[in-house]
Amino acid sequence: DSFEALGITSPILQHLNDKMRISKPTRVQKLSIPTLIAAQNDVFVHAQTGSGKTLAFLLPILTRILGMKAHVDRQSGCFAMIITPTRELASQIYSVVLTLTQCCHYLVPCLLIGGERKKAEKARLRKGCNFIVGTPGRILDHLQNTRVIREQLASTLRYLILDEGDKLMELGFEETISDIIKLLHEIPPDHSKYPGLPRRIVHTLCSATLKGSVSKLGNVVLKDYKLISS
Ligand code: AMP
Repeated sequence: DSFEALGITSPILQHLNDKMRISKPTRVQKLSIPTLIAAQNDVFVHAQTGSGKTLAFLLPILTRILGMKAHVDRQSGCFAMIITPTRELASQIYSVVLTLTQCCHYLVPCLLIGGERKKAEKARLRKGCNFIVGTPGRILDHLQNTRVIREQLASTLRYLILDEGDKLMELGFEETISDIIKLLHEIPPDHSKYPGLPRRIVHTLCSATLKGSVSKLGNVVLKDYKLISS
């Protein structure tokens, strides 16, 4: 019953213990972490807010990135994109990514949430980032408008997380998300760049409910998925 037993390595372990005061995995973390490290299936995570699902998807991604033992910095490419329904949720997750990446400060996240910051967001994307956290409309906007960004992203991206899928559907984001996925899959991943990463994009859909319209989103996004119910 430890993060170590689930496959999380130091320096992440140490950072979790010393800086975040987190030592025992929650149920959803126990179930999700090994599956997402293995990265053989897409994953449908059925979990409530407050269950620890944010770390359940961030810890395995970080483990895979650090496990490559390759030189990585902000210009190495974006490995993970986390799409959330609201700016507030995106900001919350972004701050967890910031806290977590203090253990490996050469990794840089980028927040894409719209408002007046479009130019600043674009500048940050051009400088390079390893994680994108954002809202659907603004992410699609950047992908559609800047070919260089789209190409860079698609060549290295290996984890796509849709957080609060039920709310994404409630707010009418199905088409926007399907457009994002289409654009990302237009350019095949470049395996020569990071052989230590999964060979394809692993899609993860998180939702507090399984029924209703979120199952439709599952059909659009997930292939051959594993259901994790906590
Ligand atoms: P989440 O469900 O991701 O929104 O997380 C809810 C809260 O639980 C956050 O404040 C986390 O910092 C905290 N948390 C996540 N995982 C653990 C854990 N394994 N032990 C204690 N607290 C945790």
